[in-house]
Amino acid sequence: MLRLHNGNGGIFIPDGTEPEAALRRTTDLCIAAHQDDVEIMAYGPIAQCYEKDDRWFAAVVVTDGAGSPRAGRYASLSDLEMQKVRVREQVDAARLGKYAAVLQLGYPSAAVKAAGDGLCASELRDIVRLTRPDTVYTHNLADKHDTHVGVTLRVLEALRPLPPEERPLKLYALEVWRGLDWLPDGSKAVFDTSPYPELAADLLRVFASQCAGGKRYDKAAPGRRLANAAFFSPHHVDSMDSCSYGLDITPLMIDETLRPGAFIGRQIEALRREITGRIGRME
Ligand SMILES: [Zn+2]
Repeated sequence: MLRLHNGNGGIFIPDGTEPEAALRRTTDLCIAAHQDDVEIMAYGPIAQCYEKDDRWFAAVVVTDGAGSPRAGRYASLSDLEMQKVRVREQVDAARLGKYAAVLQLGYPSAAVKAAGDGLCASELRDIVRLTRPDTVYTHNLADKHDTHVGVTLRVLEALRPLPPEERPLKLYALEVWRGLDWLPDGSKAVFDTSPYPELAADLLRVFASQCAGGKRYDKAAPGRRLANAAFFSPHHVDSMDSCSYGLDITPLMIDETLRPGAFIGRQIEALRREITGRIGRME
């Protein structure tokens, strides 16, 4: 059975299923840096799994949430008190979203950003072995938050050594601290975030400590999804009200020689070609 490196208080299973079975039923696993990142970036998969018998969503939050900004009624909390608040909020989200399980690993940010430690990656590998998901979601390499990119690199370190039969089929990188609207349309993975709008709103409102500082993620994340759907194509009527974007980074999991920087660099280069090509055609 899984023993979390930083203490086993970090495992919560909303429906009380015995841990091994609870983890094993996972089909969709999201690995994120902080409490609330999962609900901001992976609402599409959460909604796809919601109340389904054959699909289960599980969440992993890698860091302890200690360094988060605080304001309003949270302003006077110590780092330790703030961590407890954030852990509780994430548990509430898992309950609301009827996740298979949520695992909060409690690593300091610095440990996630440091290459070569190996501990965080090996714990993530153990979790993937126990959950055996079809699909893993994590942060995208063009994100502007160091810890988010650190998590993506640790996820790659976790998955690459696994034998092919133990790897997920797909690995997607999702949007938080930078939208993925800039990706060429052919590269975009589109996740429908329209179902259960009340659930979508509640899953963001539950993180009251994050919204209290004037950062209205509960409005901004649904707003980005609406904008994504409305501005997806100038020539087509919207087929969904709301969507989020991802990039399929499965090749980075499969091919160990592929460098993450070079991989995302190709997408940036494709964007450059698309923009300069359009101008060139009309000059
Ligand atoms: Zn975050």
